[in-house]
Amino acid sequence: MTSGPILRLDDVSVRYEGTLAVDGVQLEVERGDVLAVLGPSGCGKSTLLRAIAGLEPISAGRITFDGEDLAGRPTHRRGFALMFQDGQLFGHLSVARNVGYALRLRRLGRAAVNARVSELLELVGLSGFEDRMPATLSGGERQRVALARALAVDPRLLLLDEPLSALDASLRQSLAADLRDILHTAGTTALMVTHDHDEAFAVAGRIAVMFDGSVVQQGPIAQVWASPEAPRTASFLGYARVLTGASARLVAEAAGLRAGGQLALRRSALRVAETGVLEGVVEQVTSTPEQLRLVVDVPGAGRLDAVARLDERLVVGESVHLSVDATRVAQMSV
Ligand code: ADP
Ligand code: MG
Repeated sequence: MTSGPILRLDDVSVRYEGTLAVDGVQLEVERGDVLAVLGPSGCGKSTLLRAIAGLEPISAGRITFDGEDLAGRPTHRRGFALMFQDGQLFGHLSVARNVGYALRLRRLGRAAVNARVSELLELVGLSGFEDRMPATLSGGERQRVALARALAVDPRLLLLDEPLSALDASLRQSLAADLRDILHTAGTTALMVTHDHDEAFAVAGRIAVMFDGSVVQQGPIAQVWASPEAPRTASFLGYARVLTGASARLVAEAAGLRAGGQLALRRSALRVAETGVLEGVVEQVTSTPEQLRLVVDVPGAGRLDAVARLDERLVVGESVHLSVDATRVAQMSV
């Protein structure tokens, strides 16, 4: 064992004919940590994962695991497990046989396999599902089985490629929280790639933001969240708007933040308040089942998205006071 990060990527590039899909990526994952690589579709996430797994040759750089350069080590000798968006279960095998598949390949005895399978099914919340066939499972249950199967051989590293993306939104959120707990309980070191910031925040402790083959920012989630390095990072993290110049100063002042630089705003950073610090005129009112959304024209700051309580009766043209929720505003250095 070595101290420091267990997985290291130094200046890793992957080139397909004509495309530099991964461009000089620098990444580190500590033992037992979960890192989410977050980026839009086509930015190179799957390619990066495949390179770490040894399924894609790298054209430059170095990948080391536990101090060892992986260059000469084929996929099946890396001790890593992969999990995909569609769990890719064996349709003709029961849940127990899917989960125990790799253990049987290792010629583990029947009793030992059964014991380990029950332990894994309990870990993913599917005790008693041993004899079910994949076709009878919901999407969420299938992904839990896929996760149990991936964890069966105690992988040194679990690589997850958009593991929850095929599920509907509410299930995705609850399974994301479970995934975090399961990985934590199992002590698994994991690298997950996703295009969904909520999923990344729910599962991982650290994130790396990737655009066009390059990692542009990485760190603990709270830190990246609090200071996105560029407007496109902010919008990818879920911020609705980036303010610059005088308008940024105005809103920063209202939020009690130091002035200077750009400000990224969550849609709900601005609320309608009894006594407020910004004043504006309601230009548009829309309602979702949860909240009333407003576009408010604030002199000096332009049109800002705000939220109000559903019971507030606001009309277009009305003048309102806004208060700023500083926890939903990020101060950017640029
Ligand atoms: P992501 O997973 O972030 O959506 P990918 O890693 O799948 O992105 O793809 C990154 C880029 O590499 C894309 O431009 C994609 O078209 C290209 N690409 C992916 N796989 C191949 C391949 N086997 N051959 C050529 N180009 C590829
Ligand atoms: Mg992909």
